[in-house]
Amino acid sequence: MAIRVVVWGENIHDRENATVRELYPNGMHNAIADALNRQNDIEATTATLEQPGHGLSAERLAETDVLTWWGHKDHGGVDDAIVEQVVQRVWEGMGLLVLHSGHFSKVFKRLMGTPCSLTWREAGEKERVWVINRNHPIAAGLGPYFEVPQSEMYGEPFTVPEPMETVFISWYDGGEVFRSGLTYQRGAGRIFYFAPGHEVYPIYNDPNVQTVLQNAVRWAHNPAAPWKDIANAPNRPVGAALEPIEEKGPSLHAPGEAGFR
Ligand code: ZN
Repeated sequence: MAIRVVVWGENIHDRENATVRELYPNGMHNAIADALNRQNDIEATTATLEQPGHGLSAERLAETDVLTWWGHKDHGGVDDAIVEQVVQRVWEGMGLLVLHSGHFSKVFKRLMGTPCSLTWREAGEKERVWVINRNHPIAAGLGPYFEVPQSEMYGEPFTVPEPMETVFISWYDGGEVFRSGLTYQRGAGRIFYFAPGHEVYPIYNDPNVQTVLQNAVRWAHNPAAPWKDIANAPNRPVGAALEPIEEKGPSLHAPGEAGFR
């Protein structure tokens, strides 16, 4: 069965800004979904902010293997209840790709637990993306580096937790560097943050960027059944211990208390 991807797009600049509209007549989310759908093993659909429930109903999320997230202008407009549903699904094992300005999305900040801030500059400068983890599956098919001819500079310090792996580091014309491809695991879910993707440059039409996204979907996909009760903390009663044990010392919970012993 193909990997079921939902490409979530804020879809505001895509409609309101003439430059973005010209680059992506059907919106960035459709450009990303089209790139993913060129792979036989990926089946991508889209969802956007303005749809009821932002297009992310519990039923739809339950049938999503990997969610990609692009937002910029209205992170605050994303309903907190939807954010919690997405976070719960990541904990259960859904993969998440956080793209570009999604670093400031509620979903990413909630999962990272840090400000996720960075420095930035919009000058159309070149970004050289160095592959520093050459054998990582997300880097499959790439050379030692690739270049995005025009990009928005994202610079350190990037206030995210120390990642599980750093796949890419970017260098910009102006001299800054940025950890532009980072992996995390939260609960049973894999998360990949990827920096390139400023909306006034045709970055999602770039073959190298598309390769990264296709690879990242496969890497983030967890084929195991969802870990539904991952947020529960069940008691293992003394009498049910694998090895016979005796209770010693004081105990907070009284013998016979519901759910204990
Ligand atoms: Zn941007």
